[in-house]
Amino acid sequence: MANRRKFLIQSALGTMGAAFGAFACGNTPKEKTIASGPSAPTVLSTWNNLAANEAAWAVISQGGRALDAVEQGVRVVEADPEDMSVGYGGRPDRDGNVTLDACIMDEAGNCGSVCFLEHIKHPVSVARLVMEKTPHVILSGDGALRFALENGFRKEDLLTEKARQEWEEWKKVSEYKPVINIESHDTIGMLAIDQQGNICGACTTSGMAYKMRGRVGDSPIIGAGMYVDNEVGGAVATGLGEAVLKMLGSFLIVELMRQGASPQQACEEAIRRITSKQKNAAEIQVGFLALNKKGEMGAYSIHPGFVYALHQNGRNVGREAAAAL
Ligand code: ASP
Repeated sequence: MANRRKFLIQSALGTMGAAFGAFACGNTPKEKTIASGPSAPTVLSTWNNLAANEAAWAVISQGGRALDAVEQGVRVVEADPEDMSVGYGGRPDRDGNVTLDACIMDEAGNCGSVCFLEHIKHPVSVARLVMEKTPHVILSGDGALRFALENGFRKEDLLTEKARQEWEEWKKVSEYKPVINIESHDTIGMLAIDQQGNICGACTTSGMAYKMRGRVGDSPIIGAGMYVDNEVGGAVATGLGEAVLKMLGSFLIVELMRQGASPQQACEEAIRRITSKQKNAAEIQVGFLALNKKGEMGAYSIHPGFVYALHQNGRNVGREAAAAL
């Protein structure tokens, strides 16, 4: 929480003096976006991931491809042991194993995904290879690990001492009920538009802390945790994956935008589908981000506290999404 607060303060300072332009934003007057031109180069990511945005922006500002940008961007978080919800340092499942989910999608609609992958620090890069080198979209578990090792990835112990100690503490109570609050998930989902105007996306996570062994969330499922369509835009999700899987939130948002909804309206409708149809909605957190091809964005969550990072028009700023409850 301390980190989030610090982030929001930094973000507020960061946004001072920025040029804002309102966009159609449904019933959330709180939400505005940075002014943008047609297909403005943009990087948008979940949570307090300004550093990941910088890495992605470095690719885009040099004329690079959005696909490389999102891969390089989310790799920053995968390698960070302090982020306990993604990659190295992620919280383990209830048996003490760090198991990772990730996916990536390009401007041509190609996509790749790995789920229930162990011992590999950069699942997003394995997902990219699944997309580029295999006839498949998803590899899981041992098969995904074998594919990674065959392609030069190194087997590593991803459980840090800090995560191990927290897990030991958790075992004393062993509360298996999958209650996720805003402190226990920090999945990074990232969308980027490059200078050619193409949009790509990636999503990577260690999933829900202390999940059942073998559990796969929304993050590696194309259309749930992430989806892009180069004719329309893209969306990413974070929060309780089971809630997002039940309504394929990212795909829904892109389709709503295709039908004319603004990114903000589409995010709000996706959250409304959860709050109106899923009985436990008040006890869980889900947040969505959306970006259309004009570089307009939307952000919305069930509960307050969902922050995101936006790199656009030369500024990398953090903001908090408006919330339904
Ligand atoms: N959506 C992720 C999952 O359910 C978790 C998160 O975003 O925090 O695996």
